[in-house]
Amino acid sequence: MITGKNYIGIHLSSEGKTTYKTFNPKLNIENEYVFYEATSLEIDEAVHLATNAYASFKNCTGQQKALFLNTIAAEILALDEALIQVYCSETGLPEGRARGERGRTIGQLRSFAELVSEGSWVEATIDTADRERQPIPKPDVRKMNIPLGPVAVFGASNFPLAYSTAGGDTAAALAAGCPVIVKSHPMHAGTGELVSSAIIKAAIKTNMPNGVFSNLNSSGIEVGIQLVKHPGIKAVGFTGSITAGRALFDLAASREEPIPVFAEMGSINPVIILPEALKKRTKNLAKTYAGSVTLGTGQFCTNPGLILGIKGQELSDFIKSLAEEISEIEPSCMLHPNIVGAYENNKAMVLSQPDLKLVTEYSSEVNSNYARQAITTVEGKSFLENTTLHQEVFGPFSMVVQCEDKNQLETIISNLEGQLTGTIIAENNELDRYSEVVTALQNRVGRIIYNGVPTGVEVCPAMVHGGPYPASTDSRFTAVGIHSIKRWVRPFSYQDWPDKLLPDELKNANPLSIARLLNGNQTKDKVK
Ligand code: NAP
Repeated sequence: MITGKNYIGIHLSSEGKTTYKTFNPKLNIENEYVFYEATSLEIDEAVHLATNAYASFKNCTGQQKALFLNTIAAEILALDEALIQVYCSETGLPEGRARGERGRTIGQLRSFAELVSEGSWVEATIDTADRERQPIPKPDVRKMNIPLGPVAVFGASNFPLAYSTAGGDTAAALAAGCPVIVKSHPMHAGTGELVSSAIIKAAIKTNMPNGVFSNLNSSGIEVGIQLVKHPGIKAVGFTGSITAGRALFDLAASREEPIPVFAEMGSINPVIILPEALKKRTKNLAKTYAGSVTLGTGQFCTNPGLILGIKGQELSDFIKSLAEEISEIEPSCMLHPNIVGAYENNKAMVLSQPDLKLVTEYSSEVNSNYARQAITTVEGKSFLENTTLHQEVFGPFSMVVQCEDKNQLETIISNLEGQLTGTIIAENNELDRYSEVVTALQNRVGRIIYNGVPTGVEVCPAMVHGGPYPASTDSRFTAVGIHSIKRWVRPFSYQDWPDKLLPDELKNANPLSIARLLNGNQTKDKVK
């Protein structure tokens, strides 16, 4: 049942007078539930509880945290159809997508459970003493990763489950031993509350400390700002637009104690189609890319917003086919009237730029909150000179850049802002002649794809979902996969510390039987 209240630890609270509702974009009406905006007092209380919870949560064993994460997964599944219905009513997304995203969320939680239960993720490193060393004896030094402290998590509108309340950031932070306070996304506050109730049930069932998780409602940016400024918050996870991510990053940097903000933001995901591939696969590529541009109504951070090729008849044929294919796709619903509004505004802004040509835009009537997909094209020189054309148009939109030659293609790629992904479509052996382009692309992206589409992010340990700014605020980390846990920890050393007082991970006997770097060798051996 949705109450509209805030979860301050295990307590439901509604101190505030300000309320808001979510919106059903398909029906074009407000949903019935009323949500209570979190007050300053409630924010303080949530941080206070999280700080207290941290004292014991950081010392939970891997098994205890794994049980907590697996129980969250089970409780989310137990929400059953109620969760799917609320998700759909707050997003306009189809049921299949809701179920798929739930599966991904559950999978993420379970994979972190497995990681912490095995235990080697702490990167235990032991350098034993050499007391006889001259001229200075060598001390015994032992290092492992420890949790940072309470983390504030901001989810994105377009992933109400997998990148929100119990999404990747929350799962990774809890696995690391950090309490989490979620700033609920106002567009899916009901979905957020249901998932929060599952997390709280799991916390109670597995004896986690009160305050290990809180969920704060908010329809504006004030709650998020107060949270990030709060001295008790030690790190921030954010998924959303560049504007918001950058604002939070600057805010965190201007605190008396600056804290890290791991923001995953928008991207236009360049796709380079090399000439031979273009010649041989025009129609096929056009169909594939019409599907990728419109997938999820274009509301993916990995949406292919930029397609680059070398000018010529083949590229013209591709643009024509892409336009034909995309015109045949039925328009679909966007997440919220504000998202449709932003899409239309951004599209209009890009279309008003000199030298940009509109190739096609869906022209028939569409339902309220449905998006009109569009394809545009521009010459390489104009694209290079006008950075407005480099901005993300969040929705079913893409721009084909017609480059003069290989050199201009390379220059454009080198001058692109940082991106989550880059894709190269090529025939066998064609890539050999474009090594400079590949190198340029590698410098600008977090993941490079060969003969595929950027949409669809596999959740696996080898995945990098991140990239140079502004794709993310710290390109050294991924937001997807088990290695994303590294964002929420810091390395910590013990020097000459008595064995019995060391954490189990670093004890001589290796009681957890984890893999450790012992005097330079990866091993599960005991320290003799
Ligand atoms: P958004 O407008 O940036 O909102 C995200 C969150 O940030 C919301 O909770 C929002 O709160 C808050 N916020 C917005 N402006 C803020 C500010 N100035 N200060 C503090 N908080 C602020 O993004 P969205 O529309 O939800 O999501 C779409 C964007 O996310 C797209 O650009 C997409 O590419 C990106 N995205 C990226 C990834 C990735 O992994 N890189 C994944 C999914 C989506 P309010 O709504 O209350 O203002």
